[in-house]
Amino acid sequence: MRELFREADSTIVGHMKSILESEGIATVIRNEHLCMAGFSEVPIPEFFPALNVIHDEDYPRALQVLKEYVENSRINAGKVNEEVACPSCGEINPGNFEACWSCESLLALTRK
Ligand SMILES: [Zn+2]
Repeated sequence: MRELFREADSTIVGHMKSILESEGIATVIRNEHLCMAGFSEVPIPEFFPALNVIHDEDYPRALQVLKEYVENSRINAGKVNEEVACPSCGEINPGNFEACWSCESLLALTRK
């Protein structure tokens, strides 16, 4: 087991965990229950929820997945006002659309 990162906000940790698991990387959150129980009134990094890969050999790939996720969200956030051409039907869609208004193809896939 190897720690990837720790973060005071357990919803972020949980979100990253589900992203990694969708990539087939087994993870476990440590300290989650301490925080949920309101164990620490004062934020102590020692008790923050920590996301860990179960298998050490997954560590480099997990870091890569998280890095790509962060970069993609940054890129998408900057593209809200840009237009995106649908890969299936060629219709122009606002950059913040998840799916083509015309044929419902996923536009997010073209931004990667
Ligand atoms: Zn389309």
